[in-house]
Amino acid sequence: MSTMFCQKCDQRAAIRMRQHRLMFCRDHYLEWFVEQTQRTIERYHMFTLADRLLLAVSGGKDSLALWDVLWRLGYSVDGMYINLGIDGEEHYSNESEQYCRTFAEERGLSLQVVNVKQSFGQTVPELARLRHRSRSKPCSACGMAKRHIMNQAARDGGYDVLLTAHNLDDEVAVLFANTLSWNVDGLNRQSPVLEARDGFVRKAKPFCRFYERETAAYTLLRGIEYIEEECPFATGSKQIIYKEILNKLEEEHPGIKLHYYVSFLKARQQQVFQPGAAEKVSELELRPCPSCGQPTTNQGLCAFCTLVSKAQATK
Ligand code: SF4
Ligand SMILES: [Zn+2]
Ligand SMILES: [Zn+2]
Repeated sequence: MSTMFCQKCDQRAAIRMRQHRLMFCRDHYLEWFVEQTQRTIERYHMFTLADRLLLAVSGGKDSLALWDVLWRLGYSVDGMYINLGIDGEEHYSNESEQYCRTFAEERGLSLQVVNVKQSFGQTVPELARLRHRSRSKPCSACGMAKRHIMNQAARDGGYDVLLTAHNLDDEVAVLFANTLSWNVDGLNRQSPVLEARDGFVRKAKPFCRFYERETAAYTLLRGIEYIEEECPFATGSKQIIYKEILNKLEEEHPGIKLHYYVSFLKARQQQVFQPGAAEKVSELELRPCPSCGQPTTNQGLCAFCTLVSKAQATK
């Protein structure tokens, strides 16, 4: 195969992106990636330099890459790591926490850490067992706990926007799942930006148009150290199966994932998914949870506080 060259200079290309018909050397790739992030932030009116941002970091490549890019672009962005207590005391969660701490220290950035066991008495897998005794995976309790803790931290800290580092592959896998079951509520809620409402902080996903391969290349070429190991509960999940199917499609038709996502956003904007559904969701009456003050549709405690009070009762 002949050597491929950067489109902007005469250096050897470090990455070729068939879906965009682009090839760049290391330096031009890093530059392109940062510019593209800024374009996505502007395209979806996500936030400005005046906003205070809180980013959920996991220690993985996507969230650390996003923190790095936003820091370079001059945004005011703090990190938040939630130690879920996965795989014992020493392993997955603690190691991920260490990557986040090192990253923040090296750049003089501020990182908040919430340890679920220390704050709520039990780890996430333990809490999940209280909720669904029969299920082996703690993922639904885990997702609920993460959303709850992140929103609380953003409210308490007076942040304007809560950020996550979901990439295009993540978004497209969720879209695929939502389409397979025609989950209209899910489709309505899936967006690069979700406005603040009733006690929920505004949310944004600045990496939603990047392929996972692109965020991985950024992390690698920038030399960011991250936890390569996946959460032990991620294996065999439906999300992963969907990602594999979508990767097969992408191989045959470069660009199909981006097209699927962008066309979905267009259809969503035209309110194809049941006009008025968004209003219906907000008509569901939300009241503040008597324990934590966050919005819930429950009569008493919110789902998270219910779980935590169960955990305390079993002690
Ligand atoms: S895969 Fe791991 S981190 Fe992700 S939701 Fe499941 S338990 Fe939580
Ligand atoms: Zn170049
Ligand atoms: Zn609550």
